[in-house]
Amino acid sequence: MPSGKINWNKLSHHDKVCYQHNVRDQVLRQRWTICDKSGCSNPDHKLDIDIVTEKIITILIESAAKVKRSKVMKAVDKSRIVNGWNDLVKDSYSDYRESFINWVKSGRKDHVLFSKMNETRVKFKKALKACRKSQSVRLRDNLATSYDGKCFQTF
Ligand SMILES: [Zn+2]
Repeated sequence: MPSGKINWNKLSHHDKVCYQHNVRDQVLRQRWTICDKSGCSNPDHKLDIDIVTEKIITILIESAAKVKRSKVMKAVDKSRIVNGWNDLVKDSYSDYRESFINWVKSGRKDHVLFSKMNETRVKFKKALKACRKSQSVRLRDNLATSYDGKCFQTF
């Protein structure tokens, strides 16, 4: 079933405006913490780039899905849309962040906290990878084939 595709040419102006507003609202709602130091090699800051990328992709996909739902173009397989950043990654990310902070607070010397931090980092990266995999499939299905490149310039 060729689900997920949106024919942007057939959407009304109203639908496109809805999409833009949706993207903008969600972008503004996020906290975009990212290092701006040129040449920074902090692995956590590199990880932040992955995280921000995932968030942006999720926002684009979910906003497109909303427009699509409102158009009732096709019954949407909900499970494919919902398991984005929030479900797969959020929990393991906060676990990792928490254990990371605890380890830093301990003066980076506590071995138990260190292995706990590493453990949660592995889990988080796994979740992130799974998320990216499913999202790149969805991105391809939902967006990449649909965009003609013009839409990106409007927001
Ligand atoms: Zn940095």
